[in-house]
Amino acid sequence: VIEIRNLHKSYGQLEVLKGVDIHARRGDVVSLIGSSGSGKSTLLRCANLLEDSQQGDIFFKGEPVLWKGDSHNRRPADPKQVLRIRTNLSMVFQQFNLWAHMTILQNVMEAPLTVLGRDRSEVENAARGYLEKVGIGDKCDAYPAQLSGGQQQRAAIARALCMEPEALLFDEPTSALDPELEQEVVKVIKDLAAEGRTMLIVTHDMKLAHDVSDHVVFLHQGLIEEQGPPDRLFGAPTSERLRGFLSATH
Ligand code: ATP
Ligand code: MG
Repeated sequence: VIEIRNLHKSYGQLEVLKGVDIHARRGDVVSLIGSSGSGKSTLLRCANLLEDSQQGDIFFKGEPVLWKGDSHNRRPADPKQVLRIRTNLSMVFQQFNLWAHMTILQNVMEAPLTVLGRDRSEVENAARGYLEKVGIGDKCDAYPAQLSGGQQQRAAIARALCMEPEALLFDEPTSALDPELEQEVVKVIKDLAAEGRTMLIVTHDMKLAHDVSDHVVFLHQGLIEEQGPPDRLFGAPTSERLRGFLSATH
C-alpha cells in the first residue's frame, strides 16, 4: 500500500531523513521506533505528503507520486493525487486534534462529508458504527472536553476509520495518555491489527510495537539502523545503538 524508497528530507541545512526505505504491504503493521529527533514523525508526514521531501520515491498502491521542480525545490505535481493519497492514509496524532466546538459524532462525520462529499445519512451510520467499534458509542453527543484522554484518542481513531482509508498512520497515539488510559487505545490498535488493517505506527511503547507489528524499523539520525520482525529485533538486536536504545526504554 505504501512504499518509500531512498527518501531524503531536509529542513534548511538540517538533513533529517538521509535515504530511508519503508514498505507496508496490504495488512502489514510496520512500527517505527527510535530516539527523539531521529525523524520518525517526519517520515510519517512525508509518507502522506503533509511534508515535502527533496529526493526519493513514494508509491501509493504502486502508483508513484508525481513531482515537479528539481531536487532543491520539488513539490507534488498533481493536487488530485495528493488529495487521494492523503485521504487514503489517515493520520492519528499524539494530541488527538479533535475540533472542540463539534460533538464527537460531528468530529467523525466532518471529513467524509466535506472532503469526500459523501451522503450524510450513510456517513452518520458509518460514524456511529466506528464509535461503537472503539467502545464509545454512548459519547456521540458529547464534546471532546467532556471525554477522557483515552476516549478522545479513540474518537480520533474512529474519525480516521470513517475516511475508509487504505492505511492508518499513527504518530505516538498513546504518548499523551496515563498508563491505564493508554491500554484502552492499545486494545483498539490491536483489534485493528487483528482485522488486517494496514498500519504505520510511530511509538515509544516497545510492548505495543512488539505485540502488533509484522515488521519493526529502528531509525537513528535519519537512517534505518536495523529492522526486522519484532521477535528478532527485540529478542536479538545486533546493532549496539539499538541495544542501547532498548535498554534505555526499559
Ligand atoms: P520525537 O520522538 O521527539 O517525536 P521524531 O523522531 O518524531 O522525534 P522528528 O519530529 O521527525 O523526530 O524531527 C526530526 C528532526 O527534524 C529534529 O531534529 C527536529 O528538530 C527537526 N524538525 C522537525 N520538524 C521541523 C520543522 N518543521 N522545521 C525544522 N526542523 C524540524
Ligand atoms: Mg515525533
